[in-house]
This record gives sequence, C-alpha cells and structure tokens, in this order.
Amino acid sequence: MPDYDFDLFTIGAGSGGVRASRMAASFGARVAVAEERYLGGTCVNVGGIPKKLLVYASEFGESFADAAGFGWDLGPRHLDWKRLIENKNREIARLNGVYRRLLTEAGAQIIEGRAVVADPHTVTIGGRRYTAKYILIATGSWPVVPGVPGANLAITSNEAFFLERRPERVVLVGGGYIALEFAGIFHGMGSQVTLVHRGAKVLRGFDEELREVLGREVAKRGVALRLNSRIERIEKIGTGLRAHLDSHETIEADLMMYATGRAPNTRGLGLEAAGVKLDEHGAVVVDEYSQSSVASIYAIGDCTDRVMLTPVAIAEGRAVAETLFNNRPMAVDYAGIPSAVFSQPNLGTVGLTEDEARKQFGEIVVYRSTFRPLKHTLSGRDESTFMKLVVDKKTDRVLGCHMIGADAGEMIQGLAVALKCNATKAQFDATIGIHPTAAEEWVTMRTAS
Ligand code: NDP
Repeated sequence: MPDYDFDLFTIGAGSGGVRASRMAASFGARVAVAEERYLGGTCVNVGGIPKKLLVYASEFGESFADAAGFGWDLGPRHLDWKRLIENKNREIARLNGVYRRLLTEAGAQIIEGRAVVADPHTVTIGGRRYTAKYILIATGSWPVVPGVPGANLAITSNEAFFLERRPERVVLVGGGYIALEFAGIFHGMGSQVTLVHRGAKVLRGFDEELREVLGREVAKRGVALRLNSRIERIEKIGTGLRAHLDSHETIEADLMMYATGRAPNTRGLGLEAAGVKLDEHGAVVVDEYSQSSVASIYAIGDCTDRVMLTPVAIAEGRAVAETLFNNRPMAVDYAGIPSAVFSQPNLGTVGLTEDEARKQFGEIVVYRSTFRPLKHTLSGRDESTFMKLVVDKKTDRVLGCHMIGADAGEMIQGLAVALKCNATKAQFDATIGIHPTAAEEWVTMRTAS
C-alpha cells in the first residue's frame, strides 16, 4: 500500500469541504484542506450569511413605516451604509476565524493557495506536491454573466457585499434567488430598483402560484419589474450606467448587477487531465456517493451542480466522510429539500409543486389560503400572506407546502420534517394550532380549492 502524505486532501474550504474534512479528521483520517480565497466559502463570505445580514438591515425601512400605525412617531432616519458594511465585515472575519479553528482543532491542516490536481493521488500548490489516498473537490461555483456588450460594467453578488456607498438607482438582471433577494435588500435600504428578467414570471421551477404571487407582491412594494425583457447592451454615462433593453426602453442606474446563475468552479483544476469526467457545464460528474469517474477523487457541493444549497453541500460532505472513513457508505436523500428565498416578502417551499404533484400522482387536492396578517391590520400595509398545501388524493399524504409571507423560511423547516415523515393531511388537521400566528393556518385549512 503506497504511503500517502494524507488520507484526504480537500480542495475548497467552503461549507461542504469543511464539513467533510472535520468529520474525516474526527474519524482518524489525516486531512489537508487547500483554500485559495476565504475560509467558509461562498455562503459565509459572499452568500447566505452576509446576504441575510443585509436583508435584516433592509427590513428596518419597512418596520419604521409600519411603526406609525402602532403609535410610534419616529424622527428623521439615516442609514450609515459604511457602518453597516464594516459591522458585516467584522462578523464575517469572526466567522472566518471560527472556520479556521474548527478545522485545526479537528486536526486538519489548512494549506493556503491554489491547488491543482496533478494525478488521481497528487495535488500541487505553488510547486509543492502533496499525495493523498483520496482527493475531494469542493470548489463551489462562480457567478455567470452573459456576454452582453458592456456587461463588464455591471457587478455580480461577489462585489455587492462590498459597495462603498448605497446606490441610488439599481438595475438587477435575473429572476432567480439572488436577483429577488437583492431587489428586496436595495429597495428596503431606499434605492430605486428595477428588475429585468427574460421570463414572464420570476423563479422558474417554483410552484406557479408562488411565482405569480411573489412577482405581484414585489411589484406592489415598489420594485419596477421588466418581465420578458433582455438587456442588449450597457453603456457608461457620466457617473452612471445606461441599459438598453430589447423593448428599446433605456434605464439609467448607478449600479447594475447580474444575478443570472452560477456555474461550477472547476476550470484550471487539472481535473480532465487527471481523468475526471465533467459535464457540458463543467460540473464534476459523480455517483450517489459523490465519487467521480476517478475512483480516488470525490466531489461535493456546487461544483457538482446537483442542488446548489449550503445545507446540501454539508450533507454531501458528511456522507463522503462517513463513506470513506467510518465504514458507513452513505448517500444523500435529495427528496423534500426545503428552501427559502429571502425576498421581501419571504418565500418558503418544500416538496412538490402543484404541477409536479399532478404529473407524478395524478389526482391531487390543493388547499390555499390568502389572508392579511394580523400585524398589518394596524400597520396598514397592503400585504397578503399566501399558503398552499398539495395533497395526494389517494393516500392523503401532503406532497408540498408553499408559502409567501413573513417568516416563511422559518416556518417551512418544521413542515419539511413533517413531509419527511410522510405526514397526511389528516395528521396536519389533528395538530392543534398556535393562536394567533400565521403558522396555525397550516393546520386549519379545511376547504380544498
Ligand atoms: P438562479 O438559477 O436562481 O436564477 C438565475 C436567473 O437568471 C434566472 O431567472 C434565469 O432565467 C436568469 N438567466 C440565466 N441566464 C440568463 C441570461 N443569459 N440572460 C438573462 N437572464 C438569465 O441563479 P442565482 O444567480 O439567482 O443563484 C444561483 C444559485 O445560488 C441558485 O440557484 C441557488 O441554488 C443558490 N442560492 C440560494 C439562495 C437561498 O437558498 N436563499 C440564495 C441565493 C442563491 P430563466 O429562469 O429564464 O432561466
């Protein structure tokens, strides 16, 4: 048996890579982790965590407005953008430290630099060679910007977290998670936001009604939607930018941001030369155990383009560690993955959309509820909460829960557990609600629509 420097060499210290490495080390493996950019990867540095902090910051704008109906008179308000970004940066730096500690305390060695796979058991970093029994690719993904003339003048989410000042006018391109979340962020901070999306509805792949309701609610709040629209070119004008749409409309803005998807970050890693099969988008092709076409090379997270969500990468990382170093082959169950879009209003979803359920199960029963949240009876805000349950008619099993409204993401997590347990509508109905909450509606929907 050859003597390797390490049992596991992980490339990428994001959520998935760190989880796999820590667990492998805890099972007694000798582990190294290479990272060229930042510990914690996209989610911690330029993704979920700072995004949520900015969402919190932006929600104050609305809360101040809502406060009047509850008797509060507020004085002049001012957002100190610089302070917000500094505070956010400080928290992210703290998290970078936490990740460093988690790895080193688990016994993994961190090697800073760009790693390249030289052969199925060798990685090079800055001219140094390291051998390992297994190599784990956990290099994440990177924003994709279409080849539109002038698109280089726009930013992506990578830069959005480090702006020096709040842009007064913002154009967002895309109708997915990131575009909708940043529309809420900038709008809530007081910017004038236009969202340009090529489709007729936002959030392709989500339940059709959620797509309609979210588009309507976002527009109602004051985000200008340009649907069925494409930007043909962007030009610089004075201190700002001008976007030319295919409708011949032009929009001027201080900031334009592309949120048009993310691609697996696998270029220049030496993977193909080492025999690792990539798909046409550059994703590492893996089996259910995250093993690539080379037996000693595994891959997890966004770089495999399965489900680009942090908790999924973490689950895949854990499964690889269990499989390789704990004698417990483990495959991730991709059914019923809940997800939230931290748009304003918030969206949460788990299970099958109505269309998917109909296709897979034939006869289904759908329960819907649209209501004005109690809070807004006094705030005066014109906002509805929307909930929808999709049920299999034959077995009474709840197949999908979909929601738009305050705290949807928080609520859906619990429902995801119920769906994992194959809960039936009768069991939902037998559950006592918590009054007065919006969540009680999940267990009190009686009439199918
Ligand atoms: P998404 O895939 O969610 O959305 C991309 C959007 O860009 C779609 O509306 C798509 O339109 C549009 N688009 C794609 N290519 C072009 C193009 N050439 N010209 C114009 N529009 C285009 O990607 P995001 O960038 O929003 O996010 C990346 C991934 O990160 C998400 O898929 C998600 O997995 C993850 N993420 C998760 C979050 C969460 O859990 N809350 C938050 C942020 C990101 P069309 O629909 O027509 O294809």
